[in-house]
Amino acid sequence: MLGNDQTMEIEIATIGGYEEVGRQMTAVRAGDDVVVFDMGLNLSQVLIHDNVETEKMHSLDLIDMGAIPDDRVMSDLEGDVQAIVPTHGHLDHIGAISKLAHRYDAPIVASPFTIELVKQQIQGENKFNVENDLVKMSAGETMSIGDSGEVDLEFVNVTHSIIDAINPVLHTPEGAVVYGLDKRMDHTPVIGDPIDMDRFREIGREGEGVLAYIEDCTNAGRKGRTPSESVARRHLKDVMQSVEDYDGGIVATTFSSHIARVTSLVEFAQDIGRQPVLLGRSMEKYSGTAERLNFVDFPDDLGMYGHRKSVDRTFKRIMKEGKENFLPIVTGHQGEPRAMLTRMGRGETPYELDDGDKVIFSARVIPEPTNEGQRYQSEKLLKMQGARIYDDIHVSGHLREEGHYQMLDALQPKHVIPAHQNMKGFAPYVNLCESQGYELGRDIHVTSNGNMIQLVE
Ligand SMILES: [Zn+2]
Repeated sequence: MLGNDQTMEIEIATIGGYEEVGRQMTAVRAGDDVVVFDMGLNLSQVLIHDNVETEKMHSLDLIDMGAIPDDRVMSDLEGDVQAIVPTHGHLDHIGAISKLAHRYDAPIVASPFTIELVKQQIQGENKFNVENDLVKMSAGETMSIGDSGEVDLEFVNVTHSIIDAINPVLHTPEGAVVYGLDKRMDHTPVIGDPIDMDRFREIGREGEGVLAYIEDCTNAGRKGRTPSESVARRHLKDVMQSVEDYDGGIVATTFSSHIARVTSLVEFAQDIGRQPVLLGRSMEKYSGTAERLNFVDFPDDLGMYGHRKSVDRTFKRIMKEGKENFLPIVTGHQGEPRAMLTRMGRGETPYELDDGDKVIFSARVIPEPTNEGQRYQSEKLLKMQGARIYDDIHVSGHLREEGHYQMLDALQPKHVIPAHQNMKGFAPYVNLCESQGYELGRDIHVTSNGNMIQLVE
């Protein structure tokens, strides 16, 4: 609908992820058309309860748990949802699609890898029938939104700790709304193209410029720059080469969805004369998907096993043929109780650790009490069997201070909306924006879950 003087009304609903990292969801209304960005799950709110099976749970119960976004605020938005747009395949961005998307008569539009993960999630859902169309759109492409002929959705390529991540941009007659979750500024990613800063700079300067920028504040309080994935790769290579002559067991773990890291582990295993093998349900899921979609070219004989039986069979084979010939790449980098590495620590697998065996964590503990406790326990159990721990071989997927300055400089947004954190986590980003001439309450919009921000009336 058109407001005064033939302007188009622009309104933003901050639905989830504005009081936590997790359950991201934001809706942008441009005139009569609404686009939803992300529908995520806050996994820590699920794991804190024992034996919760989200697949069978109703949306309202999950909303009450704080696990998925409370999207009831959507009824206050006067417009039709035209697209649901997850930015990348992490669960805090796609994990609620199977619980919420069926309530909207709109397609799910995402990059090819993300769409595949959304499809798998919908197939695993037991409570709801999600029948929204799944539409693939790649970085660099644009589609028209609604019938006004004035609103377009564009995907800009960004770099993050999962492949095929994009930042969606909603072009409106009042300027662009850029949804900036999640990214780091990587000019030498191990897989895929560098972040498309040229396009961000163009968007900042063409037409009406950028009306609003919604930003991922995860690491806004950290000085300097987030290193490239190629730095983590060099670090990993250094560690792997240092254990080349070790003739016992070496085990590695990382984020299953971090395909670039898994690829580096596979490659370096071969370099030091060991056969890599991927073990654990989510290892098999993400790497299998990436290989099927041709994002990676793993060695033909790379084993990937997810089911308990086939994993244990593989462990038995490794013990028989000699641990020194293999590099198991397993789940469990956060000490998750049911993951493979934790089971190895508890002595529940046929793989036996000996004094001096190496365990490589190509990950950092997510700073959250539950994770920290579980990871501590897992490491302790591994050490009790004699394992030596290599920790923190990792770089973050999120921008630090310098990246935030660069994004503001490239986009020159009229309004900024901090997201992907709680109130405390917004503070450093607010300070940073203020140093660039923005003002809290005028053009910095600090908000919480379930609110509306009217940018153009
Ligand atoms: Zn992410």
